[in-house]
Order: sequence, then structure tokens, then C-alpha cells
Amino acid sequence: MKYLSTRGQTDSVSFSEAVALGLAPDGGLFLPEHLPDVSPRLRAWQNLSYAELCTEFLKVFATDIPEDVLGRLVRRSYAAFTHPEIAPLRQLDERTYVLELFHGPTLAFKDFALQLLGNLYGWQCERTGQGINVLGATSGDTGAAAIHGLLGKPRTAIFILYPDGRVSPLQERQMACTGAANVHALAIDGSFDDAQRVLKEVFGDRAFAAQHHLSAVNSINLARVLAQCVYYLYAWLRLPEAQRANVEFVVPTGNFGNVLAGWMLGRMGVAIRGFKVATNRNDILHRFFTTGEYRVGDVHPSLAPSMDIQVASNFERFLYYVVGEDAARVRQIMAQLKVDGGYRLANLDRDTFSSSCATDADIVRLIREVHQRYDYVIDPHTACAFQSLNPERTSIVLSTAHPAKFPDVLRSAIGLGPVHPSLEALKSRPVVKQRIAADTAAVEAYITQHGTPV
Ligand SMILES: *Cc1c(COP(=O)(O)O)cnc(C)c1O
Repeated sequence: MKYLSTRGQTDSVSFSEAVALGLAPDGGLFLPEHLPDVSPRLRAWQNLSYAELCTEFLKVFATDIPEDVLGRLVRRSYAAFTHPEIAPLRQLDERTYVLELFHGPTLAFKDFALQLLGNLYGWQCERTGQGINVLGATSGDTGAAAIHGLLGKPRTAIFILYPDGRVSPLQERQMACTGAANVHALAIDGSFDDAQRVLKEVFGDRAFAAQHHLSAVNSINLARVLAQCVYYLYAWLRLPEAQRANVEFVVPTGNFGNVLAGWMLGRMGVAIRGFKVATNRNDILHRFFTTGEYRVGDVHPSLAPSMDIQVASNFERFLYYVVGEDAARVRQIMAQLKVDGGYRLANLDRDTFSSSCATDADIVRLIREVHQRYDYVIDPHTACAFQSLNPERTSIVLSTAHPAKFPDVLRSAIGLGPVHPSLEALKSRPVVKQRIAADTAAVEAYITQHGTPV
């Protein structure tokens, strides 16, 4: 299988090349040349374990990785999850299920993709003998999940920039208490925007980036999207057969990466009735799915901070399919977005997609209601998904984070702060972070001194 860019100006590449590159050289995102039809295989996949299913699914795409290697990388990726089912599907009532995606090392769904990506990077270093230095900026979850994906891997180092004092104490501990020598938590003296500016400047220094074999942590890597398809498939196979064709996945959404994976699986022949895009008060995607107009606004902080996003970077992949796989049209729309800050799409699939938006007050209310009705505790991101479930459908709500990550919101909503043993263990470990100026030269000097040899 080969991969092409949504902007159509990059030669097609192999799976491993697409993973190593991240962003396509023409500025677009990688997608499979053709989406395969997996429907003939569904019966055979029915009773596989999570890791087995993941291997079988990825085999279709990662055709340049030997099957035994792929199986090993997948098993290793999900061995760090604490639930035997990896992604357990929990039934709350006749029509409502929750897919728990928070049993990985950092207790958020990003572990599904970033554990796998870390192992793919590790294998690449092993195979080529070349080291890799990974660099990212985070306001929370992604940095922690990326760190745990690369923790202790030979020939790799990871540097995560974050605004000092402006990520939650638990999130900081997930990044700065690993004890691993190849992990560098860089606490920037400045805001998240400063961290992002420095990140951009370091990557913009082409000579430096090439010399240190720098790779970016971001939400657009092809491997992330494909890894995320698997839990939709796993959940769909766990449903009673009579409910499958009427199922709607309800997805707390920021960058559109998570919901995109489910929708692509639907295009591969898995009968899914619909998707609900659930946003917090940053409702650009809710507005898009109700009006057809995509218009970037300001980002407002919310109780579900990992969804505080205005530019949904994975949306370009969706757009590519919506405009009939016409890369020239994608280029035109992306150019227009840059100039006008928005665009309008005519032929939107309103039958497949619905959407909702939850304010902070809604989030608190929904956490309380779900707790009262089902004696089940959800985190603020998952709460957004419980906003107006469709009573006509079987709903599978994707639970993207463990509630123990947000003790303060939970305490104000239901009067108790859930705990998790892995977070408790972090509290007794020393924080090892490097305070650093929001300055490109300072960050480059740090990487030069602490990077892995390439
Ligand atoms: C990243 C994140 C989201 C949003 O996922 P996207 O793929 O960006 O739409 C939702 N919930 C949690 C807990 C997250 O960490």
C-alpha cells in the first residue's frame, strides 16, 4: 500500500516513509492511495484480542513492515495498558455504551496512538542505526503520551516544551517524574504560545533540524489515525450483531483526529450509522456541522482543556474525501482558509454527522447526571459527549480520559475526587524538569548537549 498527500504535490511513499515524515513535504497530510474494503474479514476478526485485531488491521496498511515485526511492535505497545481488554466496552443501559480509552500509561486515549508511534520510531532507529530526537510543545496530554511512548527507547530522546506553572500539577508529573534519561521536560518561562513559537523556530532552522534528526510530535501522523481506527473496530465487534448497523459513535473532539479515524473505518466497509462530534465551548466543529461554514475564532479555556482548539489539524483529511479526493480543490480551500479565516462547504453529509457543544456549566451538570443515573464517573472531556444523546440510536460514547486526571472538576461536580494508583504513585516521585528561557538559541543549545547521537 502506498500513501499520497491531501495536497497532491508529493510523490507517493511507503507506510514507513509516511510515518517518518509526519507532514507531507507539500504541506498536506498522508492518506492511503485507496481505502481497502475490510468487510469480508470482519467475521474472521470477530473474536481476536485487541493486540491481534490491531496487528491484522495494520497489516493491511503497513505492507513494508515484516508481519512478525509488526506483531511484536503492536504487542509491546498495548502491554503497558492496565486493563486486560485494553479498550473495554461498558454498557450503561440498553442503548448506551462507554468505550473506555483511558487504561494506557497516561490515562488518556492518546496512548493508543503514541505507544504505537513510539515503537515504530524505535524500530526505525534499530533498523537504520540512526538516532532520532523528538521535539514537541504541549499544553498537557499530548506531551505526556508522547513521552510515555518513547520512554527508555534506545537511540531516541524526547524534548517536550511546556509553559512553566501553566499545566496541571498531575500533567507535569506525568512528564517530569518518569526517571528516564532520554526524557527532557523543558519548562518554558512563558506561555503556551511562546513554547509553540520556539518550537516553530527550531524546526524552521532547517540545518539544525537535519543535523539532529529532529522529528515533531503532532496530531497528524498517519500512524496515529490508523491506530485509532482499531478501537472503533474492536468496539463494533463487541456489540450484539442486531445493534451494529444502528450504532452512533459519540466523540469528544478537538483536532478531529479521533472522530476522523472512526469515519475512515466506516468508509472501509464497517457499517456504522453515524458519528456525533461533541465539542466544548470551543465549538468551531459544532458550528461547521450545523451550518456548513468553517470559521476560526478565538480559543477559550474550558474545563475540558485538551479540546481547547480552533484549528482542527486533521480536518484536512476529511475535507479531501468530502471534495471527492480532489487535491487541487483541497489546496484551494486551505489557501482560502489562510486568507479569509474560513470557508463554506455545500455538500455536507448531515445524515452521517451530528454535533453538540457543551459549556463548562453543561460539563459539570453532565458529570453529575451520569453519576446519579448510572453510578458511573466520567471526566470533563467525556462529559461533553453526553450532551443530547440520540435516543433513536445505540450510542457508544468514547471516554477519552480517566476522571482521576481532573480531581478538582470532579469534586465540584459530585463531591468526590476519584483516584488512580498510577497518579498516586507519581506524587511521591521527584520532579525532574529543566527551566529554560523562551528562547530558540537556549533550546537548541540544550538539545545539542542532551540529544541522542544521530
Ligand atoms: C486530545 C484529547 C481530545 C481531543 O481529541 P482530538 O483527536 O484532538 O479530537 C479529547 N479528550 C482528551 C482527554 C484528549 O486528550
